[in-house]
Amino acid sequence: MTIRTRFAPSPTGLLHVGNARAALFCYLFAKRGDDSGSGEFMLRYDDTDEARSTEAFSAAIDEDLAWLGLHPDLTARQSERFDRYEEVFESLKQQGLVYACYETPDELDRKRKRQLARGLPPVYDRAALELSEQDKQAHADNGNSPHWRFKLSGQEVVWEDLIRGTQKIDTSSLSDPVIRRADGTWLYTLPSVVDDLDMDITHVIRGEDHVTNSGAQIELIEALGGDVPRFAHFSLMLGADGSNLSKRIGSLSLQELREQGFEAMSLNNLIARLGTADPVEPVQDMATLIAGFDISRLGRAPARFDPEDVARLNARILHDMSFASVQQRLAALGAPEEEAFWLSVRGNLERFDEITDMVRLINGPVTPVVEDDDAAFIAAARDALPAAPLTADSWSAWTSELKQQTGRKGRGLFMPLRQALTGQAHGPEMQHLLPLIGYDRVMARLSGSDA
Ligand code: GLU
Repeated sequence: MTIRTRFAPSPTGLLHVGNARAALFCYLFAKRGDDSGSGEFMLRYDDTDEARSTEAFSAAIDEDLAWLGLHPDLTARQSERFDRYEEVFESLKQQGLVYACYETPDELDRKRKRQLARGLPPVYDRAALELSEQDKQAHADNGNSPHWRFKLSGQEVVWEDLIRGTQKIDTSSLSDPVIRRADGTWLYTLPSVVDDLDMDITHVIRGEDHVTNSGAQIELIEALGGDVPRFAHFSLMLGADGSNLSKRIGSLSLQELREQGFEAMSLNNLIARLGTADPVEPVQDMATLIAGFDISRLGRAPARFDPEDVARLNARILHDMSFASVQQRLAALGAPEEEAFWLSVRGNLERFDEITDMVRLINGPVTPVVEDDDAAFIAAARDALPAAPLTADSWSAWTSELKQQTGRKGRGLFMPLRQALTGQAHGPEMQHLLPLIGYDRVMARLSGSDA
């Protein structure tokens, strides 16, 4: 069996970290799944809500997934499949499995309140099943269009969830789900099930807020004569303080994290392990993350997400990143495409875009800082500078010479040189910076000019 998963966002807003987790699990599971590497990850736009779905949000989803490195093998759009949903709907109608209802939202609300007042569960009473043809005609004559419900069997639905273990949903405790609104538009249930079947989805991996839906969906799948896919419902994510993440969605959109300059792998590493007992590691590449993924490691307790953890991981990832993996990005920021440069500065980065500060240390302009007490020392340093070209050995040759000449050592020896050459008290190792700054600029800075 070729594993096929789907990530099914509605393009009605920006993806947030919780969506990224669903996408990542679907991707990792498909790629890891059968060890053959042939599993497929589908992106399906659940865009049946044509009023709220936009091209701009679809494009943003594409961009976010590309940034995360979750490249879909297949793509589908529900808005192109309305004819198919209509066909399935008609066949369910023929089988008497969907039925027309005319209650207004107010009426339904009153029914629910009455049931609750009597201590009963607020389950739809199926009054519409009692309507005669004449009643329906009367509604039609009054211009009332029906909404449509799927008739549940009232039996227990059982499945073996890959994360939650054995799940049982007694469908007699559920209202028959509305699958189509009075204006003809679709709710999520029917298109989702039809697509999962038509598109040979083998594993449905989604948040635990869908567990109850799965009960009704399994009945619908069976009514359509389809094979029930395996389900995995993962626990939801909370903020670090236990608050509901969705309230802070704005600050956690993927677009925003990207614009703040975070590496996608930092986020991937974190969200792949949140909710498991396994440690979060600064893995550099997707292949390693795939190899280490095991969906059964996910627990049922909510996962807590702290953006500070992304920032911390980001620094760890950058400090280990190979030159090859950043070469093009260096060029884009006008940084030297030199391994020596990258290796000398990466340990000082918390975010990649800080590379521009590092470029300035080398190319200038730098305003040299020379304390009054150090003026003579800097003059001596200029005289003792090794001849061009400066190399990886120049720094130690130069500072040993100055140590002998002036008797300075440690901080008193190194700090004035760093400040004169970079204008700053901290930064990458001078040994590496010196050849990159180059003889002419070093000379100029030692002479006090903004080079
Ligand atoms: N469009 C649905 C959602 O975003 C998909 C849920 C599912 O994976 O079935 O909630």
